[in-house]
Amino acid sequence: MSTASAYLTVRGIGVDVVYKDIKNLHIGVYPPVGRVRVAAPRQLDDEQVRLALVQRLPWIKRQRERLQAAERQSGREMVTGESHYAWGSCYRLRVVERGGHSHVELDGDRLVLYVSAEDSTERRRALLDRWYPTRLREAVPAAPSKWQPKMGVQVSRWSIRRMKTKWGSRNRETGHIWFNVELAKKHPDSLEYIVVHEMAHLLEPGHGRRFTTLMDGFMPDWRARRDQLNDAPLAHEVWAV
Ligand SMILES: [Zn+2]
Repeated sequence: MSTASAYLTVRGIGVDVVYKDIKNLHIGVYPPVGRVRVAAPRQLDDEQVRLALVQRLPWIKRQRERLQAAERQSGREMVTGESHYAWGSCYRLRVVERGGHSHVELDGDRLVLYVSAEDSTERRRALLDRWYPTRLREAVPAAPSKWQPKMGVQVSRWSIRRMKTKWGSRNRETGHIWFNVELAKKHPDSLEYIVVHEMAHLLEPGHGRRFTTLMDGFMPDWRARRDQLNDAPLAHEVWAV
């Protein structure tokens, strides 16, 4: 059975659509950034799906705001025993108070925060917030150097930044690519997928058939990687069409 898929942009929100043999339209909004995915009955076309999404836009926006607020607040006490993610694995936080240089280390299944007793929760959070982009900065270069010759496209420059709703973005004219710092919490396969996705956009700006064909050629398992990146749904609602 063939599955058709599309990527629509509805009022600035990117939406992945999969057409299936189903009766109702399903809209899911996924953590952590509020990615929107739709399963639509085959008899609908992109324009009808877009219209349905526009009608449900207030609900979609509420879910996204809720997820983004939860993401900002979750796991923010910085105490021993908390769960924190790095490279797709869950680590238990261990806070070690001692003198000297504050730093973060991965040790087995532990994420160890070496701090001084006077360091506030805010400072501990800032320490970990700085650790993620540093890890990502180390990990990113391998992917563009691997994929540039395969894809015949050049990344002139890349940077890391905090983004609320996107995993990556790019400037097609300059060849500059930006990565969401949250990728340091995801599996390395996800980072590689975003690198290839953004590099493919240097060849094709849209998400239409040409883009999908490029992605299928370069990275046949990109859909599985994308799904892994987008996690399980937190909110899910079903409407009859
Ligand atoms: Zn894209």
